[in-house]
Amino acid sequence: MSQMERAWTRTQLSEQFHKAGLAPGDAVILHSSLKSLGVVEGGAEAVVDALLEVIGPRGHLLVPTFTYCLPMWNIPPFDVRTTKSRVGAITETVRLRPDALRSFHPTHSVAVVGPEKETVTRNHLHATPLGVDCPFDRMRKYGAKILMLGTTQDTNSSLHLCEVLAKLPYVEVAFSEGQDFELAWFINEEGQVEYTPIYEVPGCSRGFRVVEEPLRRAGVLRDVMIGNAPSQLLLLEELIEAMKSLLATDPTLLLCHNEQCTICSKRRAYMKKVMGSASS
Ligand SMILES: [Zn+2]
Repeated sequence: MSQMERAWTRTQLSEQFHKAGLAPGDAVILHSSLKSLGVVEGGAEAVVDALLEVIGPRGHLLVPTFTYCLPMWNIPPFDVRTTKSRVGAITETVRLRPDALRSFHPTHSVAVVGPEKETVTRNHLHATPLGVDCPFDRMRKYGAKILMLGTTQDTNSSLHLCEVLAKLPYVEVAFSEGQDFELAWFINEEGQVEYTPIYEVPGCSRGFRVVEEPLRRAGVLRDVMIGNAPSQLLLLEELIEAMKSLLATDPTLLLCHNEQCTICSKRRAYMKKVMGSASS
């Protein structure tokens, strides 16, 4: 990093968020990479302040605070108050805000700021991680925009929601052999460890960038610059609609082609089995 590199200020970032298309009252799902912005005066706090300033007190901000608390991955049980987000500095900063509310989910919790944060985060454990009635799905009600801040579609969790909404049979295939769920664990209100099965386990997202060109062409994905970071802006509802038709044409579109990827290989094989003659 050269000493001459400029540091972005909160005010400059606010202006850029606004110019990119964010406005007061917006509901924003934010995926982010702090590093990609370059140097920011005040770091992650300043980025979050800048965004909240633009969407104002009637706006909503949702960030993933995923923790993947599965005993099989040797990740300790989820504690909603203390388990750190594993998906970046900006998400952890939002989680720690006094006015943020975190959903209770051992693998795919989210943190939300905004007047309807309770409605958005309530009962996450009773939905599937990124399926129907999860917090991402509930954000549709507020006309959610998705901002990929210095990230690309391979971190867009809403694409997992699209897999579920498109009723792709492969969401039933879990990482564990011969199972349609994974066992997660968490600390309950009494301070005891509790186990819960997780269905519709979000699989691999390494192949998700395949949707960028078609979405761009359809005008669903817009490229914007924030700080030094090439970023992307989408409307959740438009994404869901566009993905419905893309996945109708090719139901395995979102599975990656890496031969080492066990979950995508298993899911591809499963699709061959269940779609059988229909797809040949
Ligand atoms: Zn894969």
